[in-house]
Amino acid sequence: MTQQSTLPGITSSGPQLEVRADASWLPEAMRERIREQGRVEHSTGMTRAEKKVMRKRRRIPVSQWAERHRVLTQSSMPGPWRNRTTPYLAGLMDAALHPSVQEIGLCKAPQVGGTEAAHNFVGYAIDRDPGPVLYVFPDEIMAKENNRDRVLPMIKSSPRLHSYMTQAVDDASNLRINLQHMQIHMAWARSASRLGNKPIRYLIFDETDKYPEQTSKRESGPIQLGSHRTQTYKQSRKIWKLSTPTTERAPIWHYMSAEAEAVFHFEVACPRCGHRQIMELGREDSPHGIKWPEDERDPARIENNDLAWYKCAGPLCQADPNAGWSDYERDRAVRSGQWREANSGLELFEHLRKHRPRRIGFHLPAWISPFVPLSEVAAAFLRSYQDKTELKNFLNNYAAEPWLDYEVEREEDQILELCDERPRGQVPGGGQTACLVAGVDTQDDGFWFEIRAVGYGVAQDSWQIREGFIPADWTKVSPDQLQGRSWPYHPAFDTLRKVLFEDTYQDPDGTEYHVLRAAIDAMGHHTSEVYDFCRAHRGRIVPVQGMRSRANRPTKWSRIDTYPGTNKAMPGGVQLLQVDTNHYKDQLATRLQIAPLDPGAWRFHSQTSRDWARHLCAEYLDEQSNRWVCPGHKANHGWDCSVYILALVDELGVKYWDFQPSSGNEEPGEARREKKTKQPRRGRW
Ligand SMILES: [Zn+2]
Repeated sequence: MTQQSTLPGITSSGPQLEVRADASWLPEAMRERIREQGRVEHSTGMTRAEKKVMRKRRRIPVSQWAERHRVLTQSSMPGPWRNRTTPYLAGLMDAALHPSVQEIGLCKAPQVGGTEAAHNFVGYAIDRDPGPVLYVFPDEIMAKENNRDRVLPMIKSSPRLHSYMTQAVDDASNLRINLQHMQIHMAWARSASRLGNKPIRYLIFDETDKYPEQTSKRESGPIQLGSHRTQTYKQSRKIWKLSTPTTERAPIWHYMSAEAEAVFHFEVACPRCGHRQIMELGREDSPHGIKWPEDERDPARIENNDLAWYKCAGPLCQADPNAGWSDYERDRAVRSGQWREANSGLELFEHLRKHRPRRIGFHLPAWISPFVPLSEVAAAFLRSYQDKTELKNFLNNYAAEPWLDYEVEREEDQILELCDERPRGQVPGGGQTACLVAGVDTQDDGFWFEIRAVGYGVAQDSWQIREGFIPADWTKVSPDQLQGRSWPYHPAFDTLRKVLFEDTYQDPDGTEYHVLRAAIDAMGHHTSEVYDFCRAHRGRIVPVQGMRSRANRPTKWSRIDTYPGTNKAMPGGVQLLQVDTNHYKDQLATRLQIAPLDPGAWRFHSQTSRDWARHLCAEYLDEQSNRWVCPGHKANHGWDCSVYILALVDELGVKYWDFQPSSGNEEPGEARREKKTKQPRRGRW
């Protein structure tokens, strides 16, 4: 837009000022120059490149920018960038520009093209939103190579980006690119001094899992050091973390599982039936996933003859034995795909708008890549049976998942060693049981529960009595059914009530026990319903909220009078038990180390499954944050149930109860138990 300025002979157009020779107020010398040159641009202290950026500073999606200005040279498909080739990169590049987002993690298989997304973003930044860039590579050689083979060619091959280059000789110096208006620095993990000075706005950590391990605890890692440099740009910084995963505790998986506030998976649409799904390898016995002929186990033959296909999970394709995607159909499915958040279930941009996360992560397995034939994946998977190196290769480079430490396998076995001879449901005899308590983990698809017997005394021996899962299909209950109805709201709660409050459990002497108290997870899933269930069973079950940060007191009561997110009064209210989960997880981890015959052991009945044992190994203590984290959305429900049980036992003060030796058969167990049960403290129940 051009408008007349207040001074004659001067016109401003956006950030530019044009001064004409009829500007009589100018010194004669200046007017002379204008007459010669036609016009003079008023200098605002900006360089020409800066002004160029100002002029073109329209925010367009990075993916659009890439199609206009990015040219691939070192690629199997050289030429202008096309989003259609790797459609999944378009969404994540654009998401990086979202105002709330400061960190973007890509946990990726090597052949998905993920690094190009970060390069595109840097190209965009050069042209539209400049600021100092720092790339951090695992070592010096990689830093130099990437500079020479990736970053410089990107700038030189794009006419737009090329126009920002200076003619100075150090343009192409090994570790820095000087553009007219900004600099791009190259560093590597050990060049800590290079990481420690200039402020940086755009930071790209490439192949984080190849960074050398920190030598001492006092020394800050490259990721921390680099990130410190972005402090100046706190609001507008963008930090990329890219890697093929290695182990669970290495940087990228740690980011995905413990740091990212939102994790996205790519949902594709079947070109045959339209069914939307997240592609997965699928277990061999599962009805969908990557498939190959049943009688063929030779990886080489599968790969060379292209024998694999993808079986869609949609009901129509499932019903048709001949419906399987070829590589071509897989590519079509990916082209109509979109990113979806793992917990909210929302589409990428919907999630960003609604939740405004600062740290986001994307998972990119090899099978969404047009560069990886399905048969190559199938072959790699079959080879993974041969030895652990192949398995690690498959997990890291195809599934984009971390390799599980052997340690974890051992832990599982250790847990199974805590089993005794009792069948499921049997309470230990000899009058050692003070009471039964239960913990319930509420999930979107149902309830995980565990019932345990607790012994007398400070050791608080513990025996698993019963554990399991009660499925609840919430979608089958319409909101109308839920509205204003008295308890029970859902059939699953009936099953839960039966398990917790109606079923009885016996010891070998025939003494009967009921569950004395239960604690149920009230947060995240169906909080109102859980509150109502607790209100309908006052004195028997309490709602629990797990607190993630460490607190001064392990438990705390909080009174709730209204339904969550509303002003609607909850008749009688509920007392919510807030639990410092880290405290009880520390305790549980210690208890699991106690040998089965020693006091205080956390014992299991003889029918406990390996799955349950696995739940108890899912989390680990992150030493930096001193918090327990659950990597990779592993199932940890048994672990959570145990935590609620520990908190409940603490709250009940079971360790202060008087031990009364069994008085024999003349006294029924129920009466005996009642006699021994002291009223819990503080009258919260
Ligand atoms: Zn289908």
